[in-house]
Amino acid sequence: MSETPGEACGVFGIYAPSQRVAPLIYFGLFALQHRGQESAGISTSDGRTVTVFKDMGLVSQVFDEANLAGLDGHLGIGHTRYSTTGSSLWANAQPIHRQAGHTSVALAHNGNLTNTRRLADTLGLAGETSDSALMVEAIARRIDDERSDSRGLEKAMLEVLPTFEGAFSLVVMDQGRIIGARDPFGFRPLCLGEVPGGGWVLASETAALDLVGARFKREVEAGEMVVIDANGVRSMRPFASSDPRLCLFEYVYFARPDSRLHGQTVHAARRRMGSILAAEHPADADVVVPVPESGIPAAQGFSQSSGIAYADGLVKNRYVGRTFIEPSQLMRDRGIRLKLNPIPETLEGKRVVLVDDSIVRGSTTRQLVAMVRQAGAAEVHLRVSSPPYRWPCFYGMDTSDQSTLIAARMTVEEIRLHLGADSLGYLSLPGLLAATEADGFCTACLSGDYPTRVPVEVSKYVLEGTR
Ligand code: SF4
Repeated sequence: MSETPGEACGVFGIYAPSQRVAPLIYFGLFALQHRGQESAGISTSDGRTVTVFKDMGLVSQVFDEANLAGLDGHLGIGHTRYSTTGSSLWANAQPIHRQAGHTSVALAHNGNLTNTRRLADTLGLAGETSDSALMVEAIARRIDDERSDSRGLEKAMLEVLPTFEGAFSLVVMDQGRIIGARDPFGFRPLCLGEVPGGGWVLASETAALDLVGARFKREVEAGEMVVIDANGVRSMRPFASSDPRLCLFEYVYFARPDSRLHGQTVHAARRRMGSILAAEHPADADVVVPVPESGIPAAQGFSQSSGIAYADGLVKNRYVGRTFIEPSQLMRDRGIRLKLNPIPETLEGKRVVLVDDSIVRGSTTRQLVAMVRQAGAAEVHLRVSSPPYRWPCFYGMDTSDQSTLIAARMTVEEIRLHLGADSLGYLSLPGLLAATEADGFCTACLSGDYPTRVPVEVSKYVLEGTR
């Protein structure tokens, strides 16, 4: 994706009785850095006291040996954040901690609630802007109500989770246990791994298990809650029903290519997307060039399927990467020039198939096409390995303002003209779904088919915007 609309967050949790877990959480967060770059945090417990350290910035900027040394204990959770609700402030960094009687609760959330306003009204916290803060408040209040019950956190979550609507993959802890939970649609991923020598890990993506040496056991299911403590792992079902709808963009863009979803690597699915794209939108061209790095597997698939040579024509400045603290439009506009540089020798005089994984706003894609032309390309044929992104997402991707979505305002031909490409082809939705070789997806931003109620004023907007 040459322009980054906000991403999902990364969550991690570990219970390992024979180890100090803070360094392991640190490594786990490193593996999840791509899911959020605004803030990072870790909380741990030694069985008696919960300690939290969090700050704005990348994992490597927030943590050092000194502050990791202060995080003691054999269980803990961590979070990397991209703000989707609540502004980019220290107060919204996670894990969020609340004291409820003798119970210390810390929570890390990936996703976005769709009933935030109602929840805030119910709790009498109308000024609270972060859905994650409301969740921890609701849980803490329920524990307070049940103070005599030793299952405080577990029981409170079983009762409170059904009041949350929207997307939430959570890791939550108290002094003695970690709990993982996914909403009944399972919009955001969460997996369970086993630590050799004893212990369990929860993580947004399997790549984080690999980095801490944990073995993948299974995905936490949509609508499932798992409690991990001295007695092992217990599975519970707090919700009346579940209907798996994993975010399709986890396959397209969010997840690391080396992570596994539905038992296969994301990289393999992205290659198939490129392959199907080549069949749906062939091009008369000399070279296939990816928009690095997320466009690379699809470009490889396009090249293999079409027989057109693959070449690196754009270099990513890895040391800039996704380091932007403020997700403002200004930074996004500048982002492309900081991030990518063309290789004229690859592009000069060539008819180029430029492969990207998605176009959301279009502003940086336009700069990108112009940059490839200036570097000498004779023609630029843009191919996109996902369908037009037309409807806003309310489940964790920062695109809730539909007016910023180029495909909500223009036809494909209008977009081509706007971007200055010689041709433009998007992968169809059936093509994208076929490439995943799985089912049970949310496709709302591509199809307008929302699995849940969405805010009323936005529903109207969506209907008006539908073409
Ligand atoms: Fe993912 Fe799109 Fe659904 Fe949001 S609306 S969860 S980005 S598929």
